[in-house]
Amino acid sequence: MEVPFFDLNFDEKEEEAVMTVLRSKWISMGSKTQELEQAFAEQHNVKYGVALANCTVSLHLALKLIGVKVGDEVIVPSLSFVATASCVCHLGAKPVFADVSSLNDWTISPEDIENKITPKTKAIIAMHYGGYGSDMPKILEIAKKYNLKVIEDACHAPLADYKGEKLGSFGDIACYSFYSNKNISTGEGGMLITNNAEYAERAKILRTHGMTSTAYDRVNGKGFYDVLEVGYNYRMDDIHSVIGLVQLEKAKSSVALRQGMADRYRENLKESSDLVIPFADYEGNSANHVFGIFVRNGDVEKIKKQLKEAGITTSNHYPPIHKFSSFQSKNEVLPLTEEIASRQISLPIYPRMTFEQVDYVCEKIKKLFINE
Ligand SMILES: *Cc1c(COP(=O)(O)O)cnc(C)c1O
Repeated sequence: MEVPFFDLNFDEKEEEAVMTVLRSKWISMGSKTQELEQAFAEQHNVKYGVALANCTVSLHLALKLIGVKVGDEVIVPSLSFVATASCVCHLGAKPVFADVSSLNDWTISPEDIENKITPKTKAIIAMHYGGYGSDMPKILEIAKKYNLKVIEDACHAPLADYKGEKLGSFGDIACYSFYSNKNISTGEGGMLITNNAEYAERAKILRTHGMTSTAYDRVNGKGFYDVLEVGYNYRMDDIHSVIGLVQLEKAKSSVALRQGMADRYRENLKESSDLVIPFADYEGNSANHVFGIFVRNGDVEKIKKQLKEAGITTSNHYPPIHKFSSFQSKNEVLPLTEEIASRQISLPIYPRMTFEQVDYVCEKIKKLFINE
């Protein structure tokens, strides 16, 4: 049996949607992008959505909107994708890494956030690992106490919630990715959502060169443009957005399918004392973007190699950012992040996966441990 790490959840619906945009001859940012922004914001109980080229530029804009400047510090998790930290560097600010909460909770630790606060700290970025929410109530409490802004890197967590409240609706701004292997795939694409009207308006201007009107606006009767401030080209286009609309419509059922896979993994693997399966008592609905396990005993590299030989592709989320050559600072130690990263395996999980495949993966994993 072959179990790839990911399989795109596309069918004729995406193909047909793209054809309607191609035939309309409006292929850049336009009505489909606006529709996606509204639908996405609505589904996350947030007022405004701004579609962008990807999540990395969404994080960059988010930090700019909340006023992060050269010399400021932003507290970020290290157990994340590198963009969670590089966005801070793009503004001449410094990412300060905080550890995760525990072997059972791989999101940023509120306690360690508080340890890392200095007079230069301006903001916190919380990343909802695997689709499981960070402890947003505690993080917001700390932010209030020290007058900091909060950004959610919610790339893993579209449509997920924490204690009944939608992730993405807690912080000042939340950022999403629609990269191919994310829960909502458009190839490249991203979204910034916020309840702050000024942030949303300025984000829309900054994403299109600081211009007061876009080509689409002008075709629809708006006047010629002024440039209010130096901006960027961070736009998403209607070809990608229409795929996003189809994917968003599928997202509810695909999250339910992912939940089914995750439940089955947990059920199958629960007896093994050699494993930790994190987020066992998570209080909410996860988007289950990543299903990670922590290997207590045994040779992780060997296990991964043997799984590969059995046709099962795995991954690792993530190599810690603070250990990369360009982010290293001397003597920086994040014990839990380092331990988890070195003994973590991400197992395949996606809507098209079958229970048979889940069972096969679990059977192989169990066998590997028994053979040890
Ligand atoms: C994918 C991802 C990003 C970057 O998204 P892009 O759209 O590829 O720029 C940032 N943070 C996290 C946690 C991600 O998973």
